[in-house]
Amino acid sequence: MKTMTCKQLGGPCDLALSGDTADDVIKAQDSHLNAAVASGDATHEGALKAMKGRWKHPIKGMGWYKQVKADFAALPGD
Ligand SMILES: [Zn+2]
Repeated sequence: MKTMTCKQLGGPCDLALSGDTADDVIKAQDSHLNAAVASGDATHEGALKAMKGRWKHPIKGMGWYKQVKADFAALPGD
């Protein structure tokens, strides 16, 4: 289990998101962004838009995805 923050994933806050894989952490960030914006948090709107754009344009979003995977892999884990 490793932890990345919302900020490390392109978001505006320091909320910690944990997962066993980079994909788990990305999924956690996706739902965090959705929940934050749904509750009226405007600071997360840009990051949510960017995240949705990545799902729509997977090739364009691949650079970000690879970076997150590399950052996740570089984290000290168990
Ligand atoms: Zn956040």
